Amino acid sequence: MWTDTHCHLDAPEFDPDRPAVVRRAQAAGVSRLVLPAVAVEHFDTVRDLAHQHGLAYALGIHPLFVDRAADEDLARVKDALARHRDDPRLVAVGEIGLDHFVPGLDPQRQTHFYVTQLKLARDAGLPVILHVRRSADAVMKGLRRIEVAGGIAHAFNGSSVQAAQFVERGFKLGFGGAMTFDRALQIRALAREVPETALVLETDAPDIPPHWLYRTAAERAAGLTSRNEPAELPRIGAVLAELRGWSVGHTASLTGANALAALPRLGALEPMRG
Ligand SMILES: [Zn+2]
Repeated sequence: MWTDTHCHLDAPEFDPDRPAVVRRAQAAGVSRLVLPAVAVEHFDTVRDLAHQHGLAYALGIHPLFVDRAADEDLARVKDALARHRDDPRLVAVGEIGLDHFVPGLDPQRQTHFYVTQLKLARDAGLPVILHVRRSADAVMKGLRRIEVAGGIAHAFNGSSVQAAQFVERGFKLGFGGAMTFDRALQIRALAREVPETALVLETDAPDIPPHWLYRTAAERAAGLTSRNEPAELPRIGAVLAELRGWSVGHTASLTGANALAALPRLGALEPMRG
């Protein structure tokens, strides 16, 4: 059984067939699914989806959504965390972090939202799901200032020195579709080298399709889509198994146990249902 620690099931790409997406994931052997939120307007949706299908969710404002968020949205995060404090399906604060890759974002506003949400996570005693893109040092600076209960650095793509810093602070690193590309040398090297207790798997669906779903620009122009979905997780996990020289079964149970260690509330949930 597999754990997808990062899936945006609320994304519009899944509007046509969301229940079928969950059923396919379950049929493929995915037994746990974590839905991070990206904006306050999505909080009710991820929570409803989690309750409807037996999944887990996180509440937070994603760095790419900070510019369109209102200042008061941080107070809304705080209220929502207080209101749902006793909801066992609320497993983390996220997706929060810093994106220094996408141009045109206000870095100070991103930092303000990131640091404030770290404090909310600390005060709520919840782990965090982190978005780290060209920002590993700045994200780490926040974690040194504000001690949270660990969590996951999702779609990790930093250097091995940066990876070691996250691991030292007790964070897990999320690996997904990017690892399936032969040319992703740095990510594949990390997946081979980080301590085995630091590895968790994720799809980031509908984004980051694995190589077998990848479409060239010409194929996309011809109407072919490359939507990733949680049912792909076992095949992504098999790539990790190959990189590490492990059996697929060991890879599933190890990464599942690591996900539980990062997001302890996952352990108390009954299995998902399609
Ligand atoms: Zn995400």
